[in-house]
Amino acid sequence: MPISESMVQDIVQEVMAKMQIADAPTGKHGVFKDMNDAIEAAKKSQQIVKKMSMDQREKIITCIRKKIKENAEVLARMGVDETGMGNVGDKILKHHLVADKTPGTEDITTTAWSGDRGLTLIEMGPFGVIGAITPCTNPSETVLCNTMGMLAGGNTVVFNPHPAAVKTSIYAINLLNEASLEAGGPDNIAVTVEKPTLETSNIMMKHKDIPLIAATGGPGVVTAVLSSGKRGIGAGAGNPPAVVDETADIRKAAQDIVNGCTFDNNLPCIAEKEVVAVSSVVDELMHYMLTENDCYLASKEEQDKLTSVVLAGGKLNRKCVGRDAKTLLSMIGVNAPANTRCIIFEGPKEHPLITTELMMPILGIVRAKDFDDAVEQAVWLEHGNRHSAHIHSKNVDNITKYAKAIDTAILVKNGPSYSALGFGGEGFCTFTIASRTGEGLTSASTFTKRRRCVMTDSLCIR
Ligand code: NAD
Repeated sequence: MPISESMVQDIVQEVMAKMQIADAPTGKHGVFKDMNDAIEAAKKSQQIVKKMSMDQREKIITCIRKKIKENAEVLARMGVDETGMGNVGDKILKHHLVADKTPGTEDITTTAWSGDRGLTLIEMGPFGVIGAITPCTNPSETVLCNTMGMLAGGNTVVFNPHPAAVKTSIYAINLLNEASLEAGGPDNIAVTVEKPTLETSNIMMKHKDIPLIAATGGPGVVTAVLSSGKRGIGAGAGNPPAVVDETADIRKAAQDIVNGCTFDNNLPCIAEKEVVAVSSVVDELMHYMLTENDCYLASKEEQDKLTSVVLAGGKLNRKCVGRDAKTLLSMIGVNAPANTRCIIFEGPKEHPLITTELMMPILGIVRAKDFDDAVEQAVWLEHGNRHSAHIHSKNVDNITKYAKAIDTAILVKNGPSYSALGFGGEGFCTFTIASRTGEGLTSASTFTKRRRCVMTDSLCIR
């Protein structure tokens, strides 16, 4: 068929539209060539923010929520286009979650004691300019969520985002500053550099005007931040196991686990990365995963092929991270049905696809001889990250035993992992879960200093 001029124009327009998303504005708000200049700008802006009333800060946060909602789809598409990871639909949901459920200034509370000797308050004050290092797995979600909490606490923030997600992160930083300006606040409440590198990260970590650093990422960055000599909030890696015992609603457990595991192609650090089930329920659980939840059962040969692709040379292949199940299967020559959501198989806990935090919808199922054995294997698989773990059980003694043994920041019972982020569960949202340093799910109050204000012998009117 001859190609007409209008067909060519259509193709050109489509390519241009894609390029516009890929090359979306690096913008003027909050983006600097030099890290020192970025920090200086954030410092000036913090001088303004710290004098603002709580009401003024909240107005900016309200405007940020609006901007996130308006731009949820653009941000989701940019994230997927730039990183090649995750899926647009789930990323849109994640942005709405950030907009709706990230705490603002209501998280900044006061503790008071009053009595015969006067009035004493504990108030939460800002640190100043906070340094934040963010991952490529939830790039804009983390930038937006961190800034909302940090600003509510009276801080401004300088980001060193993952280089693989710099355009998306910069787009989010632009939005944050536009929201601030629109709500009558200063520019540069959140700043970054055009080209974030390990060098710019080091400048930020060592800078005299950065008293606190929040690191969200794998073990390398958390260790680097905790070795910096500064106070650090370490939100590190996980490998969350989902335990299933014989009292669980097995059909629902299969559905919850697959839903949690496949959300944004398994990118969230809290997502189910493997299952440990007592022997008597393994077959039923896998039956429901296969018949009702669009899973694909990988043969031994396919597991070996997947291992050699996903963990090529013993290292996690970044080209596989955040890819969907069908794409992963196509990488080993399997043409799976279009609706395939998750690759499952049964294997020992030492299987490389089970013991490694893969961040893709491959779910190994480990058989345990009884509940105690399940707990022991799950604790081993969590690798002491103390990050997230999940359980499907109606036996409260079992749940309690598991919770104490695994000792994680998050433990979801009888639901998909994402309910821990307030998505189909109670509670607020965050994309920085301080597993290593123990603050757990971070919010505005995490980014504040506690100050004791004492008035002696007056202001008590009881
Ligand atoms: P990553 O560790 O490769 O990168 C995270 C950030 O750290 C990036 O900005 C990167 O440039 C920077 N970085 C890496 N090594 C560094 C070093 N030595 N010094 C300074 N900066 C350094 O992680 P990723 O692939 O972007 O994200 C996935 C990882 O992050 C997973 O392990 C996941 O579990 C974890 N994660 C944890 C949380 C949490 O809240 N605990 C949230 C999201 C992701």
